[in-house]
Amino acid sequence: MTKTNGNINVQTENIFPVIKKFLYSDHEIFLRELVSNAIDATQKLRTLSARGEFQGELGDLTVEVILDSKKKTLTVSDRGIGMTADEVEKYINQIAFSGASDFLAKYKDVQENLIGHFGLGFYSAFMVADKVEIRTQSYKDAPAMHWTCDGSPAFTMEECKKKERGTDIILHIADDCKEFLEEQQILQLLRKYCRFMPVPIRFGDESVWVDSDTEFEEVDDGNGGKTKKPKRVEKKQPRIVNNTEPAWKKTPASLTDDDYKKFYHELYPMNFEEPLFQIHLNVDYPFNLTGILYFPKVRKTIDPNRNKIQLYCNQVFVTDSVEGVVPEYLMLLHGVLDSPDIPLNVSRSYLQSDSNVKKISTHISKKVADKLEEMFKSDREDFEKKWDDIKIFVEYGMLTDEKFCERAMKFYLLKGSDGSFSPLDAYREKIAPLQTDKDKIVCYLYANDLDEQHAYVAKAKAKGYDVLLMDSVLTPHFINLLEQKLDKSRFVRVDSDVVEKLIPHEDNIPEKMSKEDQEKLKPIIEGEVDKQRFTVIMESLESDDQPMLITQSEFMRRYREMAQTSGGGMSFYGEMPESYNLVVNVNHPLVAAVLAEADAGKQKRLVHQLTDLALLSNGLLKGESLTQFVQRSLDMIN
Ligand code: ADP
Repeated sequence: MTKTNGNINVQTENIFPVIKKFLYSDHEIFLRELVSNAIDATQKLRTLSARGEFQGELGDLTVEVILDSKKKTLTVSDRGIGMTADEVEKYINQIAFSGASDFLAKYKDVQENLIGHFGLGFYSAFMVADKVEIRTQSYKDAPAMHWTCDGSPAFTMEECKKKERGTDIILHIADDCKEFLEEQQILQLLRKYCRFMPVPIRFGDESVWVDSDTEFEEVDDGNGGKTKKPKRVEKKQPRIVNNTEPAWKKTPASLTDDDYKKFYHELYPMNFEEPLFQIHLNVDYPFNLTGILYFPKVRKTIDPNRNKIQLYCNQVFVTDSVEGVVPEYLMLLHGVLDSPDIPLNVSRSYLQSDSNVKKISTHISKKVADKLEEMFKSDREDFEKKWDDIKIFVEYGMLTDEKFCERAMKFYLLKGSDGSFSPLDAYREKIAPLQTDKDKIVCYLYANDLDEQHAYVAKAKAKGYDVLLMDSVLTPHFINLLEQKLDKSRFVRVDSDVVEKLIPHEDNIPEKMSKEDQEKLKPIIEGEVDKQRFTVIMESLESDDQPMLITQSEFMRRYREMAQTSGGGMSFYGEMPESYNLVVNVNHPLVAAVLAEADAGKQKRLVHQLTDLALLSNGLLKGESLTQFVQRSLDMIN
């Protein structure tokens, strides 16, 4: 065959500038494309050999990446099936760019949303090279071919000499892409994109320290004598950059808990925390998906860095931005997903509407629920131990995923203020007898800070009530959800009313002060407090209860808190000033004493003292008011 000159048959004449410009931000992916082509060619040969269609020696199939900074070339070399002249013509020259050009036309407006992988494959080499050569020898008995192209649609193709079967892709790196001639840069890219590819990939050599076969040194033998020991010597060995058998490709039965942990640290070398547990995914039908998802410790805050899950396509790294592929709440997980069924060359909005992606997302969600339910059923003690670390994650899932919520209602654990745990149904049974109000609504009492709300918790407990601890950032949203899901229930924070009223029963305490006297007293007290912040309410409480109390309406407080964590839409509530109720116990002797006091100055002082005491037990008395209170108390003792 003589030399051929021709034009690459692409539909868009100027595809090269387009490739360069469009993929500019992501042009490092050329290496992934070329190495995965090399891996594919190798795998194809392995398959042919297994089927007996290739009878020759496979030999060492390691793919090599070779950097020559003098010649300014980067070469990807494989010992795979290679290409005949016809195949170069078909696969390289007649590239079916229709897909790519359609794609460019369709997504002109959403360029920034592209994942960055067009499937341009081989041609992505032109993002970094101003000239590309292919030297290839097919496994078939055919002459080796040498193909060259300088980035314009013109190419040359001629026969050449090549000893080894396989393909070398030689990139002449362009002057404005010099970083791809740096060893560290290439090493880093190989580790990012090729870390788990299924054929060994060599990039240069590395040094290791080993025992010498030939050199020895004398050392103390520990008994006062001397003995000979091999010298430690530096040895060069091929640097293999990938692990060809990552854990997610193995069967779960062949892996121990330690293997999973080891793999976790291989994925995240900079993360020293142990994962809590993991889920190994393995589906063939109706879509193909493998992977391992790890539950990290989430604790109280939601990690803003959610992109921890890495997405692979047949062991080729694609992206660590899995938005749209997994449900929002699962983005808190770590690990890998590997699926050839996730379309990679599309925009995010397209991704979310893809039916395979939807199925995958639903499947993952189901597996997560399965796992949690199994843990809940099989080892409750262990599940409870882990609960604090996964609770926020479960709550987030229940709030955002209807199906998951249904499943999780079975294993969600309420935490008592005494540290005990109960599932929702058992807890309801436990509290129903004492905590059902006159309208047959079961009242769940909770605190979100056991220190601050100590007095209220103690009072509720003294009345025989149970108090929950609900202290996650999602609590206000979450209890709203529970109120919808649990029939006839209400969540009430312990400090939202006086204990007698938290769960309204029929029995009212008789009032010792007449309504007339109450009407007289109310304005006297109102005159001494900030009316913007406090609403004075007269209540008939036990006479040995506190004379005055501060409460905050459950409804108002919860909505304020929800507005603070959700933003938008609810901001009206967020802007409301904090307001409280000042509850006056009309049965208390000190309250009666206020009314009976004839000296206006003394009356004022008594009201101040009582309101301050109420504020104090609520942690609301601060700064100058606190100082004045202390001084007034001292004066009163004197
Ligand atoms: P894709 O890999 O998505 O098919 P490419 O543009 O990367 O697209 O490659 C086009 C075709 O060229 C491949 O399908 C393959 O047949 C052939 N090819 C590319 N690289 C090699 C290689 N290293 N060895 C053998 N064939 C190759």
